[in-house]
Amino acid sequence: MPSLSRMTFLECGKCQKHHAASEPQNVCTDCGGPLLARYDLTGKLPSLEQVLARRPGQNRLFELAPSELGPGAPTLGEGATPLIAAGRLCSDLELPRLLIKDEAQNPTGSFKARGMAAALARAAELGIGAVCLPSAGNAGGAAAAYGALHGIEVHVFVPASTPAPILHETRALGAKVTLVDGTIADAGAALAPLAQEHGWFSLATLKEPYRLEGKKVMGYELFYDLRRLPDVIVYPTGGGTGLIGMWKAFDELEALGWIGSNRPRMVSVQAEGCAPMVRAFEAGLDHAPPIESPAISAAFGLRVPGALGDFLILDALRQSGGTAVSVSEEELLADTRELGHKLGLQTSPEGGACLAAIRKLRAANWLTADDEVVLFNTGHGLKYA
Ligand SMILES: *Cc1c(COP(=O)(O)O)cnc(C)c1O
Repeated sequence: MPSLSRMTFLECGKCQKHHAASEPQNVCTDCGGPLLARYDLTGKLPSLEQVLARRPGQNRLFELAPSELGPGAPTLGEGATPLIAAGRLCSDLELPRLLIKDEAQNPTGSFKARGMAAALARAAELGIGAVCLPSAGNAGGAAAAYGALHGIEVHVFVPASTPAPILHETRALGAKVTLVDGTIADAGAALAPLAQEHGWFSLATLKEPYRLEGKKVMGYELFYDLRRLPDVIVYPTGGGTGLIGMWKAFDELEALGWIGSNRPRMVSVQAEGCAPMVRAFEAGLDHAPPIESPAISAAFGLRVPGALGDFLILDALRQSGGTAVSVSEEELLADTRELGHKLGLQTSPEGGACLAAIRKLRAANWLTADDEVVLFNTGHGLKYA
């Protein structure tokens, strides 16, 4: 069957070298940079009306997704998460146009499902039989789910501090779990020699091109729901895949002629004990030096001491007129409770961190009552028990 994807090649985000999309790829073989999927946007593409008439879900615009199977690709129902009005919090914060994109409603309870849905679908098409990744937790659970869906063996290396419900989930979905002392970076170091020895394909953040393609769809969905982009996006940043992915989606939306050149102001939120992006943003750096001894945080998805896509994150923050904000552990926990008590959303602490950041930005009048602001809640609170 001919491919239903319009993907043409992979381009290095750092040195722009092209790589074949028809075979398994990790990072750029020249410079080690992350690879971005490129599509043929000329010729006949569906109109916005045609896309909106399709069933909502991650694969709605399958022409600009990596899988060749289009609407026929196996799915667990990922994507099409709701954009929820922030109710009582709008008046508390004097932000009448505050919205929550609730990514907790994805399979496996986090937005990691989006990236893994795309990555494992493509891995199956490329004949990959075994994959591996270091994970702070949620990525491992999502990889396990989509590995099971596609019949691919999954090896996950996680910090020993990963919450029990996530370890349970990952094992229940058939993955092999290895506990490592330290952070996701230590898990990555422990995994590397074994991956080499066994020939496992790495799905580590931005060391594989298609997780980004799954996460970019969050940017498309904001546009489908609002028919415009919001003024501000507040995003809890670890490896930054979602932020980089949405930024890429906006360029594609513009190339499709569906939006103009305006972009939302992008805000990265991190926990004080591990805030490499905030430090680098404030210091005016293009790259983020890794954090030496990152503190434990309830928001473990943000505990990424050094990100491969740091330069892409910083670029998006600056180009968009955005900013980067760190919040304390007390602040993020208090605002996680607030989201539960005031909205009925049992969010991950990463979602709470975003509310705490919004509170600070509103107090400083960086956010005004006119701004349409989207807060990303990236996971479900039940996973953190
Ligand atoms: C992984 C994760 C993050 C960070 O996501 P990136 O796109 O890699 O920056 C945020 N929140 C939760 C719940 C996560 O699991």
